[in-house]
Amino acid sequence: MSAKPKLAFFSFASCEGCQLQVLNCEDELVDLVGAVDIVNFREAIDEKREDYDIAFVEGSITREEDVEEVKEIRERAKLVVAFGACATLGGVNAMKNLQPLDQVRRYVYGDKAQVFSTAEVRPVHEVIKVDAKLHGCPVSRPEFLELCKCLLAGKEFKAPNYPVCVDCKLLENVCLYHKGMTCLGVVTRAGCDPLCPSFGNKCIGCRGLVDNPNVDAAFDVLEDVGLTLDDVLKDFTMFNACDEKVKKAL
Ligand code: SF4
Ligand code: SF4
Ligand code: SF4
Repeated sequence: MSAKPKLAFFSFASCEGCQLQVLNCEDELVDLVGAVDIVNFREAIDEKREDYDIAFVEGSITREEDVEEVKEIRERAKLVVAFGACATLGGVNAMKNLQPLDQVRRYVYGDKAQVFSTAEVRPVHEVIKVDAKLHGCPVSRPEFLELCKCLLAGKEFKAPNYPVCVDCKLLENVCLYHKGMTCLGVVTRAGCDPLCPSFGNKCIGCRGLVDNPNVDAAFDVLEDVGLTLDDVLKDFTMFNACDEKVKKAL
């Protein structure tokens, strides 16, 4: 990789909110653009070059024509980052997979349905090899900056692989289950500085499941408050409809 790596940002099915998080790094942006060349980033520049080193791919793959495009990105880039929940999990777009495709297409496009192509939603790693994943909806700014440092230093970036509950307990938040609510923090990957429960909102799993979720402990929590898996299953489909464990439980 050259002394000043070239970064490129691409979006597939997404709201581009994760790319906006890059622009929101106001204090660090000057240092970042001093360390790298950003050569493709439609949220901020007109330039569109194809000689990039690191590609940040935002969004999920939802059409057959996306497949060719993302494969071309993979061929050009030395490193590919799946950028945000749409890319790492399929995200909210994957709720489409829970209904017949034709029905979804008619619902969205009405009598123009046949004009627009659509396919089962897939996260990026199911179509091409990815070198790193940045979780969250949207991605966290500190994690984005940490990932950039790792990539520039040639180090592996490791996202936390323990549940949101750990950080939530450290903050001494009262558990939402004890307030009669549900929360997926028991099995969801930490790293968001338990954003939702800290503000009284349930975790809906935007960072995906930890690699080895302690399902027994999760069932114990549900049982303690008189709930079952069915009571939380719908929440899992918000971001994790592509996850094999969730698909099996549905
Ligand atoms: S992960 Fe969330 S913020 Fe990022 S592109 Fe998808 S919907 Fe938008
Ligand atoms: S279940 Fe939710 S509210 Fe309860 S400790 Fe875990 S993250 Fe916090
Ligand atoms: S608490 Fe859950 S839903 Fe909220 S930001 Fe963290 S991982 Fe995402």
